[in-house]
Amino acid sequence: MISIEEALSKILSEVSVTKPESVPLKETLGRILADNVYADRDYPPFHRSTMDGYAIKSEDYDSSKIYRCKKEIFAGMESALDPDEEIVKIMTGASVPEGLDAVIKVEDSQELTDENSITQVKFNSDNIFQFMNISLRGEDLKTGELVIGSGAKVGISEISLLASLGIEAVSVYSLPTISIISTGNEVIPVGSAPLPYQIRDSNSYSLIAILNRYKIHPKSIVLVPDEETKIEEALKQGLESDILLLSGGVSMGSMDLIPPILEKLGVKKIFHKVSLKPGKPIWFGKKGKTAVFGLPGNPFSVQVCARIFLDPYIRSYLGMQIAKPLRYSFYGKRKKKNVLPEYFPVFLETKEKTGLCAKSFNGSGDIRAGLFSDGIALHPGERSEISEGDVLDFYPW
Ligand code: AMP
Ligand code: MG
Repeated sequence: MISIEEALSKILSEVSVTKPESVPLKETLGRILADNVYADRDYPPFHRSTMDGYAIKSEDYDSSKIYRCKKEIFAGMESALDPDEEIVKIMTGASVPEGLDAVIKVEDSQELTDENSITQVKFNSDNIFQFMNISLRGEDLKTGELVIGSGAKVGISEISLLASLGIEAVSVYSLPTISIISTGNEVIPVGSAPLPYQIRDSNSYSLIAILNRYKIHPKSIVLVPDEETKIEEALKQGLESDILLLSGGVSMGSMDLIPPILEKLGVKKIFHKVSLKPGKPIWFGKKGKTAVFGLPGNPFSVQVCARIFLDPYIRSYLGMQIAKPLRYSFYGKRKKKNVLPEYFPVFLETKEKTGLCAKSFNGSGDIRAGLFSDGIALHPGERSEISEGDVLDFYPW
C-alpha cells in the first residue's frame, strides 16, 4: 500500500494545466488568473491629497502669516498654480499642484475673511513637513510593476485592483468538465422518502460544494445501483469529462464493482488503496485526458479524500500553487489503535495561542463527523498517541 505522499505525487504527475480563456471582469470572482498583471501607470497617478485642507509650499511656511487663497481644487480637476498663487484650497483625492508639497488639514486653519472670492487664511499648526497629507505619485505602484502573478485566485481585492488597472476582460484558466457518479443499491436521491435500509446521497453534494469553491459546476450528477451494466453505461458517459468523480464501490466487498469495470473500460489504474484513514480504499486512474477518482462511499471519507487528493489535483490543473498544510499545536490527547496515518476533524481554538482541538465523531460513516469543524488534522501513522503541545499538520476545509 502506498503512502499519502506517494499517492499525492502520482496524482499530481498526471495533471496538465488547462488553457486560458477570457472572462468579463465582473464574472471572475473565484477564478484563477492565467496571466501576470502589471501596473499600466503609476499609482497614485498624481500627488494626491489625503485630506480636505490647504496645499502649501512647506519650505516657505510661516505660522504667523496670513495667506491669500483664491482657488479650490476638487478631485477630478486638473490642477495648476497661477503665478501669483501661494496656496490653494484642496479636497481629498485631488491632485496637488506642482510647486506645492504639503497639505494642512482644514481643522488646523482659520478662514478670516472672504473678499472678492479671495479667502484670507491663517494656520494654527507648527509641525509642517514636506509631503504631509500627500500620497506621492507612484508610491503604491510604479508603471510596469508586477502586481499579481498568474495562478492567483481572484478575490474581492483582486477584482478591485483589476478594475483600477482597466482590465475589463481577464485571462483566467478554463475550468475542467466534471462528472459525478455515486454508486450503491442503498443510495437514493435526497428528495426521495427512504425505506429503513436506504440512505440519502450526501456525497454528490459535498463534492459539488468543493467544486463550487473553484466556480466549477459539474456537467452531470448521477446515481447508479450496484449493477454492472448500469455502472458501465454511466462510467462510459462520465469518462467524457476531464475529471470523473466516483463515490462508493471501491472497497473489497462483493458489491464493490467499480475497479474492474474501470479497467475494462481502458482506465489505467495508477493506484488502489492508500495508507490512510479514513479513505484507505481510494482508487485513482487515468484514461486519456480524464482523471478518475474512485472515492470510498462513507461521507467523511469522501470529504477527507477530496481535501487531500482532489483539491490539489484541481489547484494544479488550474495553475495554482498547492496549498501546504498549516502547522498548529494540539490541545488535548488523542489515541489511535492501528498504524495508519489518520485525519480527524478539528476546531481552531484560541487559548494562550491558537491551536487544534479534536472534534469527537463515530467514524467515517458518521454524517456529523465534520460538522462545524475548521478542517482536518493529521495524526501521524507511527504515533499511537498525540498529546498537548504536539505540532500537527492542519488542512483547513
Ligand atoms: P461503499 O464505499 O460503497 O462500500 O460505501 C461505504 C458506505 O458509504 C456505505 O455505508 C454507504 O451506504 C455509504 N455511501 C455510499 N455512497 C454514498 C452516498 N452517495 N452518500 C452517502 N453515503 C454513501
Ligand atoms: Mg457501495
